[in-house]
Amino acid sequence: MDYLDGNAAAGLLSEVFAVDVTSARGKCAHCGDVSVIAKAHLYTDDHGMVLRCAVCGDVIAMATERSSRLCLDLRGLDWLELEV
Ligand SMILES: [Zn+2]
Repeated sequence: MDYLDGNAAAGLLSEVFAVDVTSARGKCAHCGDVSVIAKAHLYTDDHGMVLRCAVCGDVIAMATERSSRLCLDLRGLDWLELEV
């Protein structure tokens, strides 16, 4: 399946975070890799997006938008560090 790089997630995630999310760093809960979100692999469809770890391919974040609500699932990250 084709994917975009994590930079493409900036538009949707900027609706939630008032900072540049692509420069944020996160730790993959599966393999422990620490990378900036921009290096993740982004898969999108009509329902939302899935970010996968560039190292192990596990899901690190999911976002769906429905009825003017954005639902984020970040359980694939041990932590997310944002520059403020
Ligand atoms: Zn990983």
